[in-house]
Order: sequence, then C-alpha cells, then structure tokens
Amino acid sequence: METFTGISVVIPVYNEDDNVLELYKKIKSIMSAQNKAYEIIFIDDGSTDNTFQDLSAIHENDDRVKILRFRNNFGKAAALSKGFEYAKGNIVITMDGDLQDDPEEIPNFLDKINEGYDLVSGWKYDRKDPITKTIPSKIFNILTRKITGVHIHDFNCGFKAYRSDVTKSIRIYGELHRYIPVIAFWKGYRVGEIKVKHHARRHGKSKYGSRRLLKGFLDLITIKFLSGFSARPLHFFGTFGFLFFVSGFIICLYLTIMHVLFIFEGVPEWEIRMRPLLLMGTLLIISGIQLISVGLIGEMIYSLSKDDNTSMIIEVLE
Ligand code: UDP
Ligand code: MG
Repeated sequence: METFTGISVVIPVYNEDDNVLELYKKIKSIMSAQNKAYEIIFIDDGSTDNTFQDLSAIHENDDRVKILRFRNNFGKAAALSKGFEYAKGNIVITMDGDLQDDPEEIPNFLDKINEGYDLVSGWKYDRKDPITKTIPSKIFNILTRKITGVHIHDFNCGFKAYRSDVTKSIRIYGELHRYIPVIAFWKGYRVGEIKVKHHARRHGKSKYGSRRLLKGFLDLITIKFLSGFSARPLHFFGTFGFLFFVSGFIICLYLTIMHVLFIFEGVPEWEIRMRPLLLMGTLLIISGIQLISVGLIGEMIYSLSKDDNTSMIIEVLE
C-alpha cells in the first residue's frame, strides 16, 4: 500500500451528526498550521442519523477527508481497526468524534512522539463526564495498571498518537481497544502519556454506560492470557491438566492396590466400592485429560494462525 510521511487522523463516529462538521473544521485549522501532509479518516460505524450525509458533504469539498462507512454498528474497536488498516500516514492520531477531545492537543502528541515514543496516550486528568462514569473508570484504570504493569492513567482515552508500526501490527476486536497501550507495551513498543484537555459532551449521547466495567474486566483476562500464553497454550492448560491427572492417577492406583489387598485379606474398609475417594480420583483424571486436550487444541489453532513475526524486528543489519 502507498504510504506517506505525515499524519492520519482516525475518528470513529456513531450518530454524531451534530459534531462532525465542527470537529472537522477544528482539525483542519490545526493541521494546516502544522505544515505536514495529512489525511482525516472518519469511520461511520453504522450511524442511523445524518452523520454519513454530513461526512459526505465534507468529503466533497476536501479530498484529504476519507470516509469508511460500516454497514452496521460494529463498535469502536472494529472502527479503529479498519481505520488503522486504511491509514497511510507514518503517524496515526485517533480521537473521539464527539468534540470531547480537543484537536488543539494534536501538536503536543506529535512532540511526544518525536521524543521517541511509539504510542502516546492521552490522560483526561480533568475529565468532564458524569460521576457514574468517572468513578468506575478510576477503578478500572487502577486495576489495569496493577495487573498489566503499564503505568499510564487513562487506558480508555480515545485520544492517542501512534507510529504506524504500532497500528499496523496490533489486532483489536470486540472491545479490546481499551487495551491497545497494554498490547503495544507487551510487544515492546515505548508507551508514553500526555495530559489532555477534555470537554463535556454538548451534542449527542454517550454510547457507553458504566455497565462496560464488567466486560472490561473479562477483556482484561483475555489480554492477560493472550499476552502470556497465546503462543504456548499447552503450557497453561497442560500444567493444570498434568497435575490433575497425576494426582488422580496416584489416588486410583492406591485404591486399586488396597482393593487387591482386600481380595486377599478380606478387610471390608479396603474394598474399592466403599471408598468415596474413588470419585475424586476419577474426576481428577478426567478433568486432567480434558485440560490437556484443550491445550493441544490451542496448540493446533496457534500453529495454523498467521503470526505477525514482522513486528518483533526493529531493524536488520546485514
Ligand atoms: N463510537 C463508535 N461506535 C460505537 C460507539 C461509539 O464509533 O459503537 C464512537 C463515538 O461516536 C465517539 C467515540 O466512539 O466518537 C467515543 O464514544 P462515546 O463518546 O460515546 O464514549 P464516551 O466518551 O462516553 O466514553
Ligand atoms: Mg465521548
């Protein structure tokens, strides 16, 4: 794909018809002052209002503006993912399309990238959202920071800047967009943070409630698992499976020996059908085999998947 040295601004929008025009104007004035090549990519995530019509009108007058229109509402992660695929600049900025993120911050992101960071995440340190959102979000951020070891304050901030290596090598789906900094960090990219201004939403509705917290934590398990074991599922499942199997085997072996002794000696308590332990031994063996099988299936799936070894290499000297 043809690429250019410059900036791709990627903006997922879902029912933001009161916001897109004003946002476009602001971005345009900031970007023109930068004296760099740029493009603005709006991903219309299946809007049911006039967002697409408004975007088309903008596109008519400005060929720097590209629009990807989704057939249905597939979610922010899907929108970002397609935007990343399509973006041609060597630096990618993502921001929300609801005017809560301030385009004036773009130059600060670029400065931070120039300091050598591969990903710079915004921190809405003075967040202008209802308390039902800010409190769950604080808890979410503290836990994510503890569990992942990535020391930024605001994982879920939609305002971020990336070198295109990052956006081209990260796969996100579902609601995993919250964990982009984590995935990038684990892949070895330098992740930084800057404080950003945040505005209250003036038009349109927020699409995410506080219910997303639970889902966020399920995703955290996925992320933690994928980072640690996706390339060696048998190590994870196999360890438990093996332990279960061996303990079950020892228990059953012991019960069998005792039963043989019962046949010769006739002590009634040694008879195998009198031993509740038999149930535990059998369960351990069966679940052990199950876990090992799951691990083996995981290995098969992984061996068939196309892994992105390209993103492991920074440079090659030959
Ligand atoms: N968005 C999207 N698809 C969705 C939900 C949201 O593209 O299914 C966009 C939305 O239009 C906005 C950004 O993602 O540009 C952030 O959404 P929102 O402002 O609703 O989230 P909040 O700021 O309330 O966390
Ligand atoms: Mg918002």
